[in-house]
Amino acid sequence: MDDIAKKATLIDGKRFSEQLRERVADEVGRLATRGDVVPGLAVVLVGDDPASRVYVQSKQRAVTAAGMRSFEHSLAAETTQQRLLDLIHQLNADADVHGILVQLPLPDHIDPGVIIEAIDPRKDVDGFHPTNVGRLGTGQGALVPCTPLGCLMLLQAHLGSLAGREAVVVGRSNIVGKPMAALLLGHDCTVTMAHSRTRNLPDVVGRADIVVAAAGRAHLIQGDWLKPGAVVIDVGINRIAAPERGEGKMRLVGDVDFDGAFATAGAITPVPGGVGPMTIACLLVNTLTAACRIHQLDEPEGLAPSL
Ligand code: NAD
Repeated sequence: MDDIAKKATLIDGKRFSEQLRERVADEVGRLATRGDVVPGLAVVLVGDDPASRVYVQSKQRAVTAAGMRSFEHSLAAETTQQRLLDLIHQLNADADVHGILVQLPLPDHIDPGVIIEAIDPRKDVDGFHPTNVGRLGTGQGALVPCTPLGCLMLLQAHLGSLAGREAVVVGRSNIVGKPMAALLLGHDCTVTMAHSRTRNLPDVVGRADIVVAAAGRAHLIQGDWLKPGAVVIDVGINRIAAPERGEGKMRLVGDVDFDGAFATAGAITPVPGGVGPMTIACLLVNTLTAACRIHQLDEPEGLAPSL
């Protein structure tokens, strides 16, 4: 038996996200049957960036598939900041809208900080509003950014309690790295944040029981950096050339050298099929949570981790 190489467990984010989406749909159905509320998400797209349009469409499809209402607002690229603010104020006041998502990036003449701050924090399903950032940082109930929320759910599903574990988050962005670190700290991990100026990244990563990689650098983290048995959550989505698939072909890879890590890690998320599908599922969770809080209804038990 000893000569059989040990392999990591694959953390199947796709399957987990499908179960989560079914669970949300069940809860939405229950709310509707009781005549309580139908959660509604407004998605705002400014300009015609093709990638943003694809993201918006897949979010809308998921929202309707879960039995929620979806409201799309597509604005021209030259829309003024004031016009966008007017729309946000209108959505803040709209009783059918429980979540507001402004697809980023916005055109250069619009300040995303001003737009995010204009969203009612109770409807801020992206969890980017300073009120929600502050509430997360101070351990109060918050709407939490979808990607790190999904990572936390995968970690808890695999490990159970995270208390006392050494966690290293690679990347310090406002949408992934920082909220991820806050969530892990809130769940009693000992957290280190690494970033582009970190010295000796292999040693820092090597002491982690949990590694969350969110640097946006293909294959940055090598398998032989990892502590044996570490649980690895790979958030990175990087497009690299794949000549083996034919001329000019590309493929998606994460920030972790998957093949190397697979031999050392205890468990790992694949790319694609790991964290990615969890992000949209968590958007549904956040929209449902927002609707319950706005209407002062009990939140479905066990759907989202306690924060
Ligand atoms: P970002 O560019 O805003 O931040 C990257 C962070 O990584 C920075 O803090 C930087 O300091 C750090 N970094 C860069 N190079 C590094 C290096 N060599 N060593 C250590 N740290 C380094 O990126 P982001 O928006 O946080 O996204 C990170 C990755 O996650 C990207 O690949 C992005 O596509 C992906 N992403 C995936 C999802 C999803 O749903 N799966 C969601 C959001 C982002």
